[in-house]
Amino acid sequence: MEILSTLIKHFEEIWPDTGTESWDFPGLMLGNPNQEISSCMLTVDVTLATIEEASNNGAQLIIAHHPLFLHGAHELSEINPKGAIAALAARKGVAVYAAHTNADFVAGGVSETLATRIGVDIQGKSDDFSKQGVIGTLKEPTSLIGFSRSVAKVLPPVAQGVKVSGDPDKVISRIGLVAGAGDSFLERALDQNLDLFITSDLRHHKSLDFIESSNLNDGPALMDISHWAAEWLWLERVQSDLAGAFPSVKFEVSDISTDPWDFVVMQ
Ligand SMILES: [Zn+2]
Ligand SMILES: [Zn+2]
Repeated sequence: MEILSTLIKHFEEIWPDTGTESWDFPGLMLGNPNQEISSCMLTVDVTLATIEEASNNGAQLIIAHHPLFLHGAHELSEINPKGAIAALAARKGVAVYAAHTNADFVAGGVSETLATRIGVDIQGKSDDFSKQGVIGTLKEPTSLIGFSRSVAKVLPPVAQGVKVSGDPDKVISRIGLVAGAGDSFLERALDQNLDLFITSDLRHHKSLDFIESSNLNDGPALMDISHWAAEWLWLERVQSDLAGAFPSVKFEVSDISTDPWDFVVMQ
């Protein structure tokens, strides 16, 4: 058992506010700092289902990656999801804390955890790109298809699988990645001497521009992985770190996938 404010003090040390982007609003978003916490659930997104799950498992705290109120809220009626979530959390006595961009880029953060788990040896964080994401090399050069299969095995299962653009037989070693929605890094990724760039939430035009440019200049292949899956791996890391720091609190990773897609249909 710990008081929530004690946990928060620790969170602020491992996910310092100095790493928070100006548009981001992580931190305590629901709950009372004086609340007693004996059990905590970890999730990428807070949904009605994850609050129910936390409550059913006896958790008084959810640690999420994505903040609940990024775009502001003007009412919290239960007609709308944010209000319904806030009301359910209050009724169930579940507090919600988020660590977002302040957890994305720190050592042991979201991008670094993804890199480590898919076998990328991280190199120094010197330039603008690698401050935000991660650049590293594979232990052994691997074919693009072989590496893609190994990534799919490491990630939790999702309907979209792993989407790849590039020659399946291309041998790759130097990889750049940004966990989460990283399309704003596409242009910079072209100049980093990469064999492959990995991120999530890629759309048609920017992806096509990247691929065209890459084809012209012998640039990197491109991989689009599920945003939820990419960031989910970090939860296991947080679970083991926090369990070590607070032995009297139970930390569990949510069993619920908050990837938005349930299935795909092939022709
Ligand atoms: Zn994200
Ligand atoms: Zn993130």
